[in-house]
Parts: sequence; C-alpha cells; structure tokens
Amino acid sequence: MAKFVPDLTTDRWVIIAEGRSKRPVEEQTPKTAVKFCFFCPGYEKIPGEELFRIGPGGPYTMGWKVRVIKNKYPITDFHEVIIHSPSDTDDIDTLPIDQVKLILQAYKDRFNANFNNGHVINNVGEMAGASIRHPHSQLVVVPRQINLDTLSQEPIQNVLVDNTNFVVYCPEFSQWPFEIWIAPKKRDTYFGQITDLEIVDLAPILQEALKRLITRLTVKEPGHFNPGVPVVHFKGVPAYNFYIHHDKNWYIRIIPRLVHRAGFELGTGLSVNTMDPADAVNILKQEI
Ligand SMILES: [Zn+2]
Repeated sequence: MAKFVPDLTTDRWVIIAEGRSKRPVEEQTPKTAVKFCFFCPGYEKIPGEELFRIGPGGPYTMGWKVRVIKNKYPITDFHEVIIHSPSDTDDIDTLPIDQVKLILQAYKDRFNANFNNGHVINNVGEMAGASIRHPHSQLVVVPRQINLDTLSQEPIQNVLVDNTNFVVYCPEFSQWPFEIWIAPKKRDTYFGQITDLEIVDLAPILQEALKRLITRLTVKEPGHFNPGVPVVHFKGVPAYNFYIHHDKNWYIRIIPRLVHRAGFELGTGLSVNTMDPADAVNILKQEI
C-alpha cells in the first residue's frame, strides 16, 4: 500500500511505494532469443485484471484494439495501464490515426471512471523509458487531499500548429528543452469532457507534435546533431514523457528527456532550460 508523506513547511508530498521496485524490467535479449511480451495479444491472462477494452472479444481474450489493466506494481491504490494497441512497436506517432482516436477515447473513459476517486494523472513514458517497451500509458489516481505541485495552462506563445479545437505551442515558461504543449481552445473544461468531434481533431495534432519531436530530435549518428539542437546526452530516438493535466483548463504537456537535471537545479528548484522556446518552435517547424 502506498504511503503519503507530507512536508509540513511547503505542503508538498512524497509517495512511498515500495512494491513498485519489484516490477519487472525487460532484459535486453540477444536478437536470436525468442521474445515474448505480456502486453502483446495472446498473453491476456497474465499481466493483470482487465478493466476495460475497445474492440471485440470478452475479457482476457484476443481481438482488442485498446486494453486497460490494473497495474500489478501500483504507485497508488488506483493505478491502471492503458495498452495503446496490439502492436509491440508502433506508438502514437506512427499508428493509424483511427487507432490514435481509440487511445484518446480510452483515456477519456478511464479519466471519467476514476474522477470521483481523486486527481487522475495520465502519463506516457517513465523517465528515459518505461519498464516494458510495448507502447502504453499509465493512469494514476492521487487522493484529492494531496496537494499537487502542477502548472496551470501556460499562455499561448510560439505556436507550432493549430486546428479548429486545439493549439500546439512551446510556452515561454518551458522548464525543459523542446517542451510541447497542446491546449484546447475551449476554456474551463476537464479532459473527461472532451467530445467525439474534439477527439477527431486532437488525434492528428497530437500525432504531428510527436512525429515532429521525434524526427527533429533524433540523433542519427554519434556526434551528429541536428542544426540548432543543443548537445544532448543520448544517441538515437529521443525518449519523452507526456501527461494530461488533471484539472480544469486541461492541457497535454510533452517533455522530451534530452537532458538530466543537475545539482544546481536539484538544490534550488530552479529549472535551467538550454533551449529558448522561440528557437525550439522554429526547429520543430522545419520540414519532416
Ligand atoms: Zn508487446
């Protein structure tokens, strides 16, 4: 069971979740080894209690398009895993757009199913990579009495792209290089209130944002960096996190994990962003 510990002077909290350290981490297996993945079709009975699915078939059978299970190694009492699709490799940036819409519908359903239990935090990517590679998101519910130290929606500046219902931008208050935010044009709504028509609009713009981020920030060869991109501590495709803000005036915040936090930042709480968001948006706008 998770333990919530307050810091009495700042009203910040820490969650002690010891069981979480027992979760499995995929081993790097030699290419010749037979690989199997508990999130792939055919293993439905193994990873955890099935809570929800989109697509045909009863619980624990194949045929699903998006599948939601209970996390066996939870951070809090309500912790779900949303498996994005049967594909072991394709994620939101490369899946067919209709599948991205189904993922967003699953997010909405689970947000609303958990809303009465507390703050619903929906996130993708765990630090530099999730412990299981099969593309998935996590939904964690934090009791309402716990104060969350989160940002309100930042003012819209440095617009990357927009459509009828959404705008994609790089806020001036970006704590990380190449942060991308997606915000609805309609004010004062929760994510759980998104309509089917708005999902039709959100899916392609989310996909485009991720595609641009991945294409522009991928380091193709060691020592080679895309023009304008500051030196970063990785080779290959950038890892990223994104989360959906739990409160009114929701937004999606995408954070590429290009840099590590340094002692100065840990000691002061101040973020040092080595990339001006006004320049970041111009790099992300380049042809992909
Ligand atoms: Zn898989």
